[in-house]
Amino acid sequence: MTSFSDSKYVQKVCEITQASYQEGWDERNGGNVSLRLTADDVSEFSDLNHVKRTLDLGFDASALAGEYFLVTATGRYFRNVIHQPNLDLGLVRITSDGQHADLLWGYDDGAQPTSEFPSHLMSHIERLKVDANQRVVMHCHPTNLIALSFTHELNEKSISLLLWKMQAESLVVFPEGIGVVPYMTPGTNEIGQATATKMHDFRVVMWPHHGVFGTGTTLDETFGLIETVEKAATIYSQIGAQGGQIKQSITDDQLRDLAKSFQVTANPHFLS
Ligand SMILES: [Zn+2]
Repeated sequence: MTSFSDSKYVQKVCEITQASYQEGWDERNGGNVSLRLTADDVSEFSDLNHVKRTLDLGFDASALAGEYFLVTATGRYFRNVIHQPNLDLGLVRITSDGQHADLLWGYDDGAQPTSEFPSHLMSHIERLKVDANQRVVMHCHPTNLIALSFTHELNEKSISLLLWKMQAESLVVFPEGIGVVPYMTPGTNEIGQATATKMHDFRVVMWPHHGVFGTGTTLDETFGLIETVEKAATIYSQIGAQGGQIKQSITDDQLRDLAKSFQVTANPHFLS
């Protein structure tokens, strides 16, 4: 039997948090990640047999009862996770009443899950309704996308069209576009619920003047999704740096051709 500390799950969360930090998306204690695991996934590990602590969730997560989450700790730095995963990560199992989570591994020095854990769980609940394979929720602070929330109207259609037109890759990677919630106070159940509602239609939700929530089936896919959105926003920033005069761009017709060619369906509310 292997130890969960040596699992591919811990290793991959370490890799992704480090990569996200190196992108500049997780200054200080910014950012948090959760990876959903099933009873099957964790059955091979010998060191998950007793409950270390029970945590209060502060909302009803009964839709996820019995599911396991490997989640970053509150107040901890993405920069450090790779060096001390047993302190900065925890594996919890949602209790049958949905009000608590049993800690089975990690948070060795008394840490707690990210203050955004309720927001993560609400998003997991919503994404599971759309696609049972969705396992990851990731929050971080991509610089150029945040900048865009100051200079552009906070309108899902116009932001999605803008990002689609910044590079041919965008429409292929996020054909549904991106969702936008109003500016709200982080760490509250209100922003969690607003984000989860958007997660029904979008895998990327912008938190204006703050960051982004992304979701996907794997950590690599989710990271790549946020990376692609941020790359588009970076090109937009660079256009501004080159004087901001757009002389030619991808047209709506060319977006339609792109969707056809890559067999994706562009969000019909954004591109008819
Ligand atoms: Zn944040």
